[in-house]
Amino acid sequence: MKCDILVIGAGILGLSSAFHLKKQNPEKRIIVIDRLAGPGQGNTSKSAGGFRDIFTAGSNLPLAESTISWFDHLQGEQGYKVGFAHTTYLWLLSEKRHREMEDSFRTAESKGVDFKVYEEEQLNQLIPDLNTDFSDDDEAELMGLTPVKIGVQGLNCGIIDTDALTKAYESLFLELGGEIQYNTTAHKLELKPEIELGIPGEPFVWQEPVVSGVQTSRGPIEAGTTVVAAGAWSGTLLDPIGYPSMMKPKTRMIFVFKDPRLSGLYGTSGFNRYNVLPLTQLPNIKIYLKADLSEGSLWLGVSEDIGREFKLYDEPEAEERLYSENVYYSLTKHLPCFNDVRPINMWGGQRAINSVDKQPVVDSMTGMIYVGAASGNGIIKSDALGRIVAAKYSGETEAELFNGDSYEVSRLSIKSRKVDKEDF
Ligand SMILES: Cc1cc2nc3c(=O)[nH]c(=O)nc-3n(C[C@H](O)[C@H](O)[C@H](O)COP(=O)(O)OP(=O)(O)OC[C@H]3O[C@@H](n4cnc5c(N)ncnc54)[C@H](O)[C@@H]3O)c2cc1C
Repeated sequence: MKCDILVIGAGILGLSSAFHLKKQNPEKRIIVIDRLAGPGQGNTSKSAGGFRDIFTAGSNLPLAESTISWFDHLQGEQGYKVGFAHTTYLWLLSEKRHREMEDSFRTAESKGVDFKVYEEEQLNQLIPDLNTDFSDDDEAELMGLTPVKIGVQGLNCGIIDTDALTKAYESLFLELGGEIQYNTTAHKLELKPEIELGIPGEPFVWQEPVVSGVQTSRGPIEAGTTVVAAGAWSGTLLDPIGYPSMMKPKTRMIFVFKDPRLSGLYGTSGFNRYNVLPLTQLPNIKIYLKADLSEGSLWLGVSEDIGREFKLYDEPEAEERLYSENVYYSLTKHLPCFNDVRPINMWGGQRAINSVDKQPVVDSMTGMIYVGAASGNGIIKSDALGRIVAAKYSGETEAELFNGDSYEVSRLSIKSRKVDKEDF
């Protein structure tokens, strides 16, 4: 099989790239392949589907801002029901943590990010389940926990249904005449020399190597350009040809709760028009809660940093013990309504982490573009990254984002990388 562009991976980044590539190049034959049976079934479907514009880096903020406006447009004007809801984000902070983060919030605000700040008393009124008084709690002191004193709410933030979002990109791509083959695994990227001599063993060291396609479970596919958008699995294709993926896979788990004892917390009113708890980050304990509108459940995500191995898993198992023997003790100090409550569902997914600057990569060599290392922010930045891939393919130096902003394409490359320090 032959095509102009082959995209490996039908996750959010592969499908967004495929759609923007096809939109800019309607005459080209573009094929997406995925080893799984449908769109977004890799780590996209495992994500919490949170979106936020709370970033400080000039290289990050435009990616999120423009993707959020695109989500709004997709649902509002294009009529795709993608569950885009401004439920907002809420950072619950101890005094110390607030002091540490104050400058970062101020920097984000100076860049146009919309915040609202809540004092302890207001938080107690809005979230009656929140315990902000640890004064007689020796155990909390022993555990090094500090109570919440300040809440910072990000207003242009919320949640989206990632399954519906990937299906929307899939339909947009197919409507333009794009092709998708599921249940097709890419085994190996093919390298050939730019000028072929037809001698066995090419490319030799003096020849310029070019990615010419891929060996798949259904036979070879020859492609003018191969886009590697294989998420956490990108290294399995890039490592064998010695191309740096700049990322390592790490597991993150989500626990789901639906219990009458949590209905008050789920239905927290006063923060958004849905009258649900915002996507809420708890202090000290690296966990967040999300009210899932489709099922009326609360999701708890755990973002461990040091202590969790970097390792590639196809289906990482959720560890119930992480909740019951670890998170539970600190969670119930802040939110006693979780006492004796156990999850009804749980899963693990993998984030492709760029451990150096935590920002995505869009890089290329002749015949190949790589998009990935989204570091847990792939949904938030998906549309902008797809547009940057399409601009890179066309040899443009600037990508035009949905909201009209220009983004320098080489900023996210490996050699000419120009990313700023990110506080969040
Ligand atoms: C628990 C969890 C919570 C998260 N929460 C958020 C959040 O709130 N907000 C946010 O923005 N991001 C979040 N993320 C991160 C987000 O899920 C990812 O950044 C995003 O899904 C990456 O998209 P992708 O297309 O690169 O990867 P994937 O969705 O994994 O897509 C890669 C695809 O490539 C396919 N593939 C791989 N290898 C091959 C091969 N050899 N041949 C053919 N196909 C192949 C896979 O089957 C897969 O479908 C979260 C992640 C996790 C795990």
